[in-house]
Amino acid sequence: MRLQTDVLIIGSGAAGMYAALEAARHGARVMLVDRSLIGRGGATVMAQMTVAVALGEEQPDHWEHHLADTLKAGRELCDPALSRLLCEEAPACIREMDAWGVGWARKSGHISQVQAPGHDRPRCVYVDFVNTGPAVSKTLRARLQRTAEVQRTGDLLVTELALRDGACVGAYAVHTATGESIPIAAKTTIIATGGLTRIYARNSASINMGGDGYALALRAGAELIDMEFVQFFPIGHLAPRLVGMDPIMWDPFRYKLGGRLLNAEMREFLQEDGRYVAARDHATYAILKEVAEGRGSPHGGAWLSFQHCSERELRAAFGPVIDRLAANGIDLTRAPIEVAPIAHYHMGGIRVDAEMRTSVPQLFAAGEAVGGANGANRLSGNAITEAFVFGRRAGLRAAGLAGNTPMPVPASARAPAARRPELNPAAEIARLQAVVNQHVGPLRSRAGLARALDYLNALGAACAQLPAPHGSVDAEWLDLHDLRNMRLVAECATRAALERTESRGAHQRDDFPDMDPAWRVHQKLRLAADGLRLER
Ligand SMILES: Cc1cc2nc3c(=O)[nH]c(=O)nc-3n(C[C@H](O)[C@H](O)[C@H](O)COP(=O)(O)OP(=O)(O)OC[C@H]3O[C@@H](n4cnc5c(N)ncnc54)[C@H](O)[C@@H]3O)c2cc1C
Repeated sequence: MRLQTDVLIIGSGAAGMYAALEAARHGARVMLVDRSLIGRGGATVMAQMTVAVALGEEQPDHWEHHLADTLKAGRELCDPALSRLLCEEAPACIREMDAWGVGWARKSGHISQVQAPGHDRPRCVYVDFVNTGPAVSKTLRARLQRTAEVQRTGDLLVTELALRDGACVGAYAVHTATGESIPIAAKTTIIATGGLTRIYARNSASINMGGDGYALALRAGAELIDMEFVQFFPIGHLAPRLVGMDPIMWDPFRYKLGGRLLNAEMREFLQEDGRYVAARDHATYAILKEVAEGRGSPHGGAWLSFQHCSERELRAAFGPVIDRLAANGIDLTRAPIEVAPIAHYHMGGIRVDAEMRTSVPQLFAAGEAVGGANGANRLSGNAITEAFVFGRRAGLRAAGLAGNTPMPVPASARAPAARRPELNPAAEIARLQAVVNQHVGPLRSRAGLARALDYLNALGAACAQLPAPHGSVDAEWLDLHDLRNMRLVAECATRAALERTESRGAHQRDDFPDMDPAWRVHQKLRLAADGLRLER
């Protein structure tokens, strides 16, 4: 089978779906593919909280105030054009989502906006009862169902971009149900594959967030930027076991109810006076410090207590969520839960300009896959906004360029590669995650980063080739695919972190604890014939 389209979009989170709608609105035939089910495979559907936008519904606001807060959080490393685009175009996207029926929570007729850490005023919209991501995803899926120009195909795993004379002319995908290799010819292509947080053992990621898009872009000749900046969410759920709920769901609880972060001595170690004011990076280091000094909770994190709240207050704030917690054996009025920092979002990614063009002609990127808009640290709520705004811009520009580009000749199916390497890919993924978590986590040092790099280099040769699947894609082949890409993007993050001899935003070095003005520079990575090249 060979497929042809004007615009190929890889990944169907908020960025991919918004891009598809926008490209179709501008006259393009679009193919939206995902390795999972459409709209259900990545971070968007898992997000349950807030979306930052200067709507001014709660208090007067302007996108320039949102931009000022975004730049401040990014610690002098935001790409100003991308940050501006994010903040300036956010209101239009949020209002469009409102018109499409997403159901932003309202109070006395106006859209509710809450204040989140790092924002100077109430700026974050949400869908109530921790439903934001599912509602966003459902709204975009419903719009797509009514958009005939968009062909949606799940279970198509893109393994490589197709190139001709240095330009991107589509991609090679594997149909996971049959193992068939399917070339897709496209006039323009958008990578919207989300982030890389699955490379960490403690993460909020789905299985599809191992950084495929970064690996695809690198191998096609595109540049990555700021790969060292991974955001850790300080209060990810640690214990007791929690099934079927967002591991970062304690954030909205803290917005509404305050909550107290306690160490093993049941003492509050962040001076917040029962409010939720500490920025994510500060809270992360404070928890890690308690653990390092022997005052962590039993599973190696901190206690989070809502015992000051009555059952009535909890139900008024979170309704059905309280029942879902009860089904997990959690009663917040009786006992605290355990939380710990988990890898949550990636500020770095594919380098694009403000039109979402990568350095490879006819190749665009959008959403979390893009680096630069949030600099060295991201404000809460900016990620879904980024997915909407960058998706919309990429869809518009990719459709425009496709209108002036001839249809490329469809590529042939890929020839099978070498035989499978002799390693157990599932076990190796677990090992990689443990190494990256330990040495490329929230607190880094030269010795640890160098150890991680040695391990990743040694693994390199073993995962150089991806063999063709024999028949349907089995779990082992999928693990091999993921391992190969996770190794490459882990190497990018490690190399960039080792090089950056300072602490800035989400990148904290034990051995270089201060921010260094000389390091007010971005690091770019590209793949040369003999390996990764890092430039400032
Ligand atoms: C648990 C959780 C909660 C969050 N909460 C919030 C929040 O409240 N507010 C906020 O602003 N941000 C939040 N974030 C971050 C935010 O959700 C993401 O940054 C954003 O949704 C990313 O959207 P995206 O479209 O770029 O990528 P995603 O939604 O991750 O979608 C990427 C898609 O690409 C597909 N894909 C990947 N590789 C391939 C391949 N090789 N071939 C084909 N398809 C592929 C995946 O299956 C997936 O469907 C949260 C993140 C998580 C994980």
